[in-house]
Amino acid sequence: MLNIVLFGPPGSGKGTQSEKIIEKYGLTHFSTGDMLRAELDAETELGLQAKSIMEKGELVSDEIIMGMIRNKISSESDSKGFIFDGFPRTTAQAEGLDKLLAELGMKIDVMLGLEVDRQELIDRLLKRGKDHGRADDNLETIENRIKVYKDQTSPVMGYYESQGKYRGVEGVGSIDDIFGRLSGIIESL
Ligand code: AMP
Repeated sequence: MLNIVLFGPPGSGKGTQSEKIIEKYGLTHFSTGDMLRAELDAETELGLQAKSIMEKGELVSDEIIMGMIRNKISSESDSKGFIFDGFPRTTAQAEGLDKLLAELGMKIDVMLGLEVDRQELIDRLLKRGKDHGRADDNLETIENRIKVYKDQTSPVMGYYESQGKYRGVEGVGSIDDIFGRLSGIIESL
């Protein structure tokens, strides 16, 4: 089993690279952002609670996120492994994930970090907003999401670094070049 946390700020290419990793290694995708957007589209109670938080670029509560992850992991017990994309976003989520995986006799093998500078992130997200119309890809929300990442999410890197599991790659270049860097690390594990 291979369990990966794909890490990086909003706009660093986690969704794009997750797709390629899944295709090559047959992992199950856990994107908490996608899961929340599905709740929002289905107008569930959880979706309604999350809507205004997501529109502001703030973080949805750790309890809600851990509940979603717990449900999905228990329904995927036959998987070859998991890729977590956009999760964990707080140290409490990282601790919760370690505890949950330990209960199931599993662990995280590696955190792969996509490193991209701030201006490039803003440019990419504004373009995604234009191309795909995602409501939180507007300048005000983008700037808050990057701030929230810096304040609340970047410490998660230190959490995995202290376990010797963080591996960063340059997240700029062609999609295939970046994927080559990531798969080089995966295959060296
Ligand atoms: P994403 O698609 O990963 O950029 O997530 C979009 C939005 O969903 C974020 O700006 C947060 O409001 C919310 N969100 C997604 N994942 C999480 C998480 N792990 N913890 C808290 N909030 C999250």
